[in-house]
Amino acid sequence: MLHPATELGAVSPDIGVGIFASGFIPKGTIIYIKDPLEIVIEEGDNRLQDPAMRKLIDRYSYMEPTGKRIVSWDLAKYMNHSCDANSISTGYGFEIAIRDIEPGEEITDDYGLLNVEQRMPCCCGASNCRGWIGEDDIQKYHTKWDSLARDALAYYYYVSQPLGGLMDTLTRRQLQRYLDTGEGFRSVNQLRLHARKPARAVSLSADTPPLIEAVGDFG
Ligand SMILES: [Zn+2]
Repeated sequence: MLHPATELGAVSPDIGVGIFASGFIPKGTIIYIKDPLEIVIEEGDNRLQDPAMRKLIDRYSYMEPTGKRIVSWDLAKYMNHSCDANSISTGYGFEIAIRDIEPGEEITDDYGLLNVEQRMPCCCGASNCRGWIGEDDIQKYHTKWDSLARDALAYYYYVSQPLGGLMDTLTRRQLQRYLDTGEGFRSVNQLRLHARKPARAVSLSADTPPLIEAVGDFG
């Protein structure tokens, strides 16, 4: 679900529509969080085989680490990318405002955090535009994004969180632990598609066959 102080608006003839703030949204506010109404498309879903459906899904979904695609039931699916986004995904799953967002300002996020399936050219117009949005962006830029997320999360307790009630219990507990103690920060590395992590063979003992496990970044 998208933050309630948002509305759909025209951006430009090239880009089409986008999400705009209808009120002031301070840094540290949850902008988007997955909720139980979201449309979840599993990897083997028949709709992915239908070219017309596939086009819509590719355009409006993001991909979770498990490979499930999520199409938001509300306006969140219209959020545009910027390499200088004012909100980003965090390792806690939700997106957070990384600076104050003024009424009328377009709200953007960084598609590099959403597990795009193919590298695509970017022409967002930001002065720091990377030129591309790639499937390996999380691997490349996680340090920078984690730093932005930590900086924004420092404001978490001090701003209104209209979407805070939608957070699942485990995430809430882990977030509270990090905010209260500074320990156990969840990196955006956790958003990386599991299938993209390199596999390694691990032999438990001479008697057991090797297990293949994903190399985890979880901590
Ligand atoms: Zn760009």
